[in-house]
Amino acid sequence: AASFDYGEALQKSIFFYDAQRSGALGSGNRVNWRGDSALADGQDVGLDLTGGFYDAGDHVKFGLPFTASMTMLAWGAVEEPEAYARSGQAPHLKSNLKWGTDWLLKAHPQPNVLYGQVGSGNPDHAWWGPAEVMPMARPSYKIDASCPGSDLAGESAAALAASSMVFAADDPAYAKTLVQHAKQLYQFADTHRGKYSDCITDAANFYRSWSGYQDELVWAAAWLYRATGDSAYLAKAEAEYDRLATEPQSSERSYKWTIAWDDKSYGAYVLLAELTGGERYFTDANRWLDYWTTGHNGQRVRYSPGGQAHLDTWGSLRYAANTAFAALVHSENVTDPARRARYHDFGVRQIDYTLGDNPRQSSYLIGFGANPPRNPHHRTAHGSWTDNLQQPAQNRHVLHGALVGGPGQPNDSYVDNRGDYVANEVALDYNAAYTGALAKLYDEFGGSPSANFPVAEKPDGPELYVQGAATQQSSTFTEVKLYVVNTSAWPARALTGGKVRYYFTLDGATTPAQLAVTTHYNQCGAASAPIQHAGDVYYVEIPCPAAIAPAGQSAHRKEIQVRVTSTGAWDPANDWSYAGLPSGSGAQPVNTANIVLTDPAGTAVWGAAP
Ligand code: BGC
Ligand code: CA
Ligand code: CA
Repeated sequence: AASFDYGEALQKSIFFYDAQRSGALGSGNRVNWRGDSALADGQDVGLDLTGGFYDAGDHVKFGLPFTASMTMLAWGAVEEPEAYARSGQAPHLKSNLKWGTDWLLKAHPQPNVLYGQVGSGNPDHAWWGPAEVMPMARPSYKIDASCPGSDLAGESAAALAASSMVFAADDPAYAKTLVQHAKQLYQFADTHRGKYSDCITDAANFYRSWSGYQDELVWAAAWLYRATGDSAYLAKAEAEYDRLATEPQSSERSYKWTIAWDDKSYGAYVLLAELTGGERYFTDANRWLDYWTTGHNGQRVRYSPGGQAHLDTWGSLRYAANTAFAALVHSENVTDPARRARYHDFGVRQIDYTLGDNPRQSSYLIGFGANPPRNPHHRTAHGSWTDNLQQPAQNRHVLHGALVGGPGQPNDSYVDNRGDYVANEVALDYNAAYTGALAKLYDEFGGSPSANFPVAEKPDGPELYVQGAATQQSSTFTEVKLYVVNTSAWPARALTGGKVRYYFTLDGATTPAQLAVTTHYNQCGAASAPIQHAGDVYYVEIPCPAAIAPAGQSAHRKEIQVRVTSTGAWDPANDWSYAGLPSGSGAQPVNTANIVLTDPAGTAVWGAAP
């Protein structure tokens, strides 16, 4: 029987990809705290490379985890089309997959040219704010015939081939386009061999190709065979398979790691077993899954006391989930009933661990189940306006559906600490096979995706506003200190060309010509002369032409110190905007609803006029 609602978990897991979208989001956007971002991607190389997905809690578009994630997402959909259809999640899965494949098509402008990264790791990671207001340059990086990357090109081919199967029924023309690009990319990968991170060197510190490209040559050929039925690709996959790595000092094919963004060997064992029934593929897949379950040659992956199969520190649940998905697929192809049950039960157990069946009795899937994480290492979900990992204390958005890294050690312990990117980051590749595994468990045990998901979030307070204090006051003038503040996060957005209005009432027979408007300290533009609002009510307008954005301590707030001096009478007691301001030389500005902030269209975004 189902321990958890796998339908709801599946629904949320897919939703995570909506939250990771880059580019112009359009009407399909399901995340009300996300907006358009990175709209200039590719301009540095004369291409449109907007779109695609942000890698993790950062905003680099890293090609290799991304393409591997697309392949895994597609694999789940190829295995479980009925689960997706029945759960109502097929459209959401497909729209995310297409968000990825559309970008890959743009990134592949010529047969032997593939863009494999946009954004540079260090400058991106050095800044902590929402994607919509990123300030740094985002260079584009490619591989080509002179400096190739068979791993990246191969995985891209696999992603497109696998995805073509998902789109074949709905949109055969699109599926055909994906296959054409997949074939070209495979040719490129095979003919011009090399490791992508030797060419896209910016990736080497983040996603170095540790395993090389032999695995992708097999994996991609197998997917091309599956997508096209062309036996030449099967022959190619089988021939390249002979050169897959073995364990050190051993003739046994690698079994001490798992399928992940870097190494697809393990995926190839399972996929070729499934496609061909060939004995050697079963031998290799079983040896690997034995290592993850009962052990092989007396050795077994480490387990926590609470039952997590724990391969490695960084993103440990992702490795467990990847293996769980492959085990669930493979269990259906194995004939021996004991093995079949063992692999299957392992898959269920590892997924259940992430959903709450663990000593902490807590979910690791954000927005799902008991006590899920609330503060993942994710810049846009945090919503800091001061470029500060610590401010505010709690993430402003709930990143529904993201699987966090999980316990760093095989000891079932975990702290929901935003600063801990080893245990508490989220990533495209963490959720990918995980989504497929959830589809399989939904197929088997059922579940009920929520009918009213997602619920739009409400802002936690004003997003664009003015604060004021009357810092100096005499019988002839008033000086106010104003802050124009942008803490927007639903979505984060820059205010460019805002204008502030300070309203006051002329006293006695005083005429506007008797007034002087001066600014003392002013981070915005020149203040206007008094402008009549109605009758004897006037205002001074201060434009803020430069962007004010929730992108840093000084970027999110502009200060204006403005003084209105009169040679006639001057009495602030009847002045609309003066009302409620704290006064005195040390007075600190407070939110003040009687000072108006307008956007470039002239619409008031804060405050009311008299
Ligand atoms: C970033 C993470 C990244 C980590 C390691 C941190 O600064 O915020 O997104 O995973 O560096 O590269
Ligand atoms: Ca590889
Ligand atoms: Ca007055």
